[in-house]
Amino acid sequence: MSVPCLFGAHDRELQLGSCARTSSNIAGTQIAFFARSIPNSLLHLINKQQVLTLYQSLRYAERERCRCKSSMVERTSKKIEQVEKPGVFLASHAALDLLNTEWPTAAGTEDFFETDGDVFSWLRQTGLAPVGVTEVRPSGSLVRAAHALRSVIRILIEARKAGKRPDLSDLNAFLAAAQSHPQLIWSKARTIEIQTSRSTDTAEQVLAPIAVKAAELLANGDFERVRRCDSETCVHWFYDLTRPGRRRWCSMATCGNRLKVKEYRRRLNSD
Ligand SMILES: [Zn+2]
Repeated sequence: MSVPCLFGAHDRELQLGSCARTSSNIAGTQIAFFARSIPNSLLHLINKQQVLTLYQSLRYAERERCRCKSSMVERTSKKIEQVEKPGVFLASHAALDLLNTEWPTAAGTEDFFETDGDVFSWLRQTGLAPVGVTEVRPSGSLVRAAHALRSVIRILIEARKAGKRPDLSDLNAFLAAAQSHPQLIWSKARTIEIQTSRSTDTAEQVLAPIAVKAAELLANGDFERVRRCDSETCVHWFYDLTRPGRRRWCSMATCGNRLKVKEYRRRLNSD
């Protein structure tokens, strides 16, 4: 009998396999508790069976010191515990990752941005957070502005993808709120560099780098390569950076695998 094992795949992706050791049953309450501790953004990508498998593999590695993949299992386990609220970054472009912070569920819509802290956390993970700023006043203004900016970018990207000529004034208003200027600084190598210095007094100013990313995508992006995942149940956007330009899925480890198995079964049944 084989036991499920968690493999550390690409950054922030989980991949499940198996190793030849014996498993044991785990109480349902423990599994439910564990599932709650997995961030919603990850739960969207893995189904209930995978949550159970993941739980089993982590418990198993703890108990039995699984020899085949224990170091990988432990590393991934620690990663899940330590990261405060990991976002999903599959899109290969920050503006499209922003659209992927909201997704439909059976109960309605799930949103990564629930508080100002969630927005800071997401910006930190994209590398776009302002250095040394952890708060914007008034409280709640950052999450409201993030929702508004995301709606504006979604409308523009969907329209551009559909070959329409959308009104740009709402995104231009966000860009106008961003106050920045070039600044000379000494680098470590004792050369002089030009950096962009940004004001970070308002929510719109904190979000300015992502508004700029969206503007760059709309102006310079190849919209043949801006796509949504091929899975019918997935809403993720991505920018196809592969050389042949044939990327179909947000993630090979989740939607890609599911669809490949489905297509394989369909081919098998039609033979
Ligand atoms: Zn997908």
